[in-house]
Amino acid sequence: MENCLFCKIANGDIPSNKAYEDDTVLSFHDIEPQAPVHVLIVPKKHYTSIMDIGASDAALLSHMIEVAQQLARELNISDDGFRLVVNTGENGGQSVPHLHIHLLGGRKFGWPAG
Ligand code: 5GP
Ligand code: ZN
Repeated sequence: MENCLFCKIANGDIPSNKAYEDDTVLSFHDIEPQAPVHVLIVPKKHYTSIMDIGASDAALLSHMIEVAQQLARELNISDDGFRLVVNTGENGGQSVPHLHIHLLGGRKFGWPAG
């Protein structure tokens, strides 16, 4: 989609510090990390938010979770634990309207979310 930041990162128009890439998914380190490990897992196809995901996208979503698991192992946060976050819409704190999963780790997180 034109003028979408993460579409531009996904197609290489804007550079990123990549953590993982395949045909359908890109992962890159967040520009403003909120934890020692903070990467974003992004579908290359544009979805504005998790609300755009339907039954026909089940394989993609499960693949994104597999990528999160693999990165958690590679980035050495799988044993201590980590957090996956999908901010959605205004109240959810979503600032980039292209679906992404945050993978955060390397420190302890509070709950409930702020
Ligand atoms: P959201 O607020 O939508 O859940 O998450 C968007 C995330 O994208 C934020 O954590 C923000 O720091 C990150 N971000 C915004 N612009 C860029 C960018 O140009 N490059 C990278 N690597 N991360 C970005
Ligand atoms: Zn997009």
